[in-house]
This record gives sequence, C-alpha cells and structure tokens, in this order.
Amino acid sequence: MGTSMESSRFADGVSRWFAAGIHPHEVGRDGGSVTDYAEFLGNPGFSAFGEVGLDYYYDYSDRKSQRAVFAAFAELASRESVPLVVHCRCEDTSDSAFNDAFSILADFASDGGEFVLHCFTGTPEWVDRFLELGALFGMAGIVTFPKASNVRDALRRIPLGHLLLETDAPWLAPVPFRGKRNHSKHLPLIAAKVAEIKGVAVGVVEEATTRNGFRLFVDWRGVPERGKGGES
Ligand SMILES: [Zn+2]
Repeated sequence: MGTSMESSRFADGVSRWFAAGIHPHEVGRDGGSVTDYAEFLGNPGFSAFGEVGLDYYYDYSDRKSQRAVFAAFAELASRESVPLVVHCRCEDTSDSAFNDAFSILADFASDGGEFVLHCFTGTPEWVDRFLELGALFGMAGIVTFPKASNVRDALRRIPLGHLLLETDAPWLAPVPFRGKRNHSKHLPLIAAKVAEIKGVAVGVVEEATTRNGFRLFVDWRGVPERGKGGES
C-alpha cells in the first residue's frame, strides 16, 4: 500500500497488485494533491486507493486536514468506482476517529463504494455499524497479541464474508515473531489464530479471506491481472 506519492509509485513498480494513497501521517507532507492520484487509475495492478483515513492516535497531521484529504479520496474513489483501504486509529478511550471516518464512509458506501478497515482495532459495536455500510475488516498480527482481547472480541462479531487477513508488514509481526520484521510468510499464523477464535478450520478462513480479497481488490477492475496478458 502507498502512503505518499513516492511510496505509491514504488508500490506500482514492485507489486503485482498495489494501492495508492496519502496516509493520514503524510497529510501536509506529501506535497501532491489528491487529484494527482488519478494517474494510477489505468495502471495494471492498481487495486485501491489507500492507505487513506484518519489517525487521531499519533496526530502527526492536523485532524481537519486529515478529514479533508480522506473525504477527497473517498470522492475520487466514488467517481472512479475504486475501493478504499482505510486506516482508522484513535485512543482506546475515544471513538472520535471512528465517528469521523464513519460519516465520510457512509456517504461513500451509499454511492456503492466498497472499503476495508485495515488493521481493525475498533469495538464490536463499531463492527456492527460498519457492517451496515458493507465494510470489510482487516486482521493483522495484533490478533495474536496476548493483550489484544479487544481485537478478538471484535473479530467474533465479523462474519467470514467480511474478513481479510493482512501483514501490515514490516510492522505487527504475529506471536512468536512480535517485534521482528514482518513478512507475508507469517500470514498462516494470523489465519490459525483467526480460525481458533471463529471456531472453524484454517482452510475455511483461508478460502473465505482469499475470495473476499479478490472480490474487493481485483474483480472490480474487470481486466486481466498484471502479467497475464489477455484480450484487449
Ligand atoms: Zn495503517
């Protein structure tokens, strides 16, 4: 996933599928404008705008600007029928980022927009509300952390049809690799923990999340994937 114009172009160059966007931490630092990101629209492998969203936990960028950039990406994504990868984080004691993200995403979803709340750390109540918008929820290595019972509580509320697995590499390596550099080879550890919490076989989680991933990131394109050629 991209976090700025530079990292989005890098992702475009090295990834089979990629997302392009301005991470809330980069708002005001990126230098470009949201409309510049339209340059990725026709590229093979372009799958979503992201990461975009709100981070009231670190507050590296002022919140008003974060909301403006996020809303502008939602508008661009809506106009072009592109999904969003949403970063939403705030203090445990406050739901303010979720409130603000919800109002932007409610408009986006009412126009048919699809999105994933990546590395979801919200409450079960927020799962219910975002499910009404058709949200998908990304589960990363946090789900394996001993103290992350809040994430496991939320996971119990998420139907398999709305779940994605992710690394958030290089961050958030699952137990027993916590604190080390993360890698997609650790995904099975996340799948195993999700299966345990959901009380289903690992294969069921793998099948459902793979299908969900293709539905969100690939199927909307209606074109052959990068490197596969195909008719024009
Ligand atoms: Zn993020």
